[in-house]
Amino acid sequence: MNPSGRVSRRALLFLRQDETPQAPSVAVIRVWKCLAHTGGFCSVCVEHCPVAGAITLEHGKPRIALDRCTGCGVCIDACPAPEPAIQAVARRRSS
Ligand code: SF4
Ligand code: SF4
Repeated sequence: MNPSGRVSRRALLFLRQDETPQAPSVAVIRVWKCLAHTGGFCSVCVEHCPVAGAITLEHGKPRIALDRCTGCGVCIDACPAPEPAIQAVARRRSS
């Protein structure tokens, strides 16, 4: 984990696809900024996500599986929307 709270790409190399760490953050789509959610076509975040099943397209719109997302930030960096359409938010901890 680097100081920004993201999991480094190097660390991701050692993750098994069925292994999701309890990352402190998770990605959330701001649908009003998302090209796919606002009438366009885009699947860049899905194509770049390194974690199987963490983000998928449903009816042409990206959907994040909170139980699989590591909060790595790859999708955030890759998103081509004019304003950031994905952000990392703190994961709520269940007690
Ligand atoms: S932050 Fe984005 S790229 Fe990283 S696991 Fe979650 S959905 Fe995938
Ligand atoms: S990359 Fe950005 S604009 Fe494209 S579908 Fe994902 S969140 Fe939406």
